[in-house]
Amino acid sequence: MSCIFCKIISGESPAKILHRDDLVTAFRDNHPIASTHILIITNRHIDSVNELEPEDESLVGHMVLVAKGLAEQEGIADGGYRLIINTGVHGGQTIFHLHLHLIGGRLARGIVPVLARGFAVK
Ligand code: AMP
Ligand code: ZN
Repeated sequence: MSCIFCKIISGESPAKILHRDDLVTAFRDNHPIASTHILIITNRHIDSVNELEPEDESLVGHMVLVAKGLAEQEGIADGGYRLIINTGVHGGQTIFHLHLHLIGGRLARGIVPVLARGFAVK
């Protein structure tokens, strides 16, 4: 088993785990781009969104609801945050184990909020 996220789930690799249930595990990204940067990953190894099946619908919904709860816990719910699932090489995915990024709070230095650019010009 070479997947780093599977190793985090099995306890073989360390992580700052914040939440764990039957379906998902959440831990802090080890290269955070904001003051809150958490990954919510599926406990079952799924490479990416491309491998999701219709029966995974509630699993994906659960990931989002866990992210919502963690945003409240981190105190970033009111200020706002981004939920991102990178998919495939062109989507910027580097770890091929399905994960949802929860990113909010103060951005790390040098990080440009690319997706927000269009809204900033007035
Ligand atoms: P992505 O580019 O969407 O596949 O995101 C992978 C994320 O996993 C990156 O933000 C990495 O910083 C993060 N990451 C990689 N290895 C670890 C690890 N061992 N513990 C915590 N986060 C990790
Ligand atoms: Zn895995």
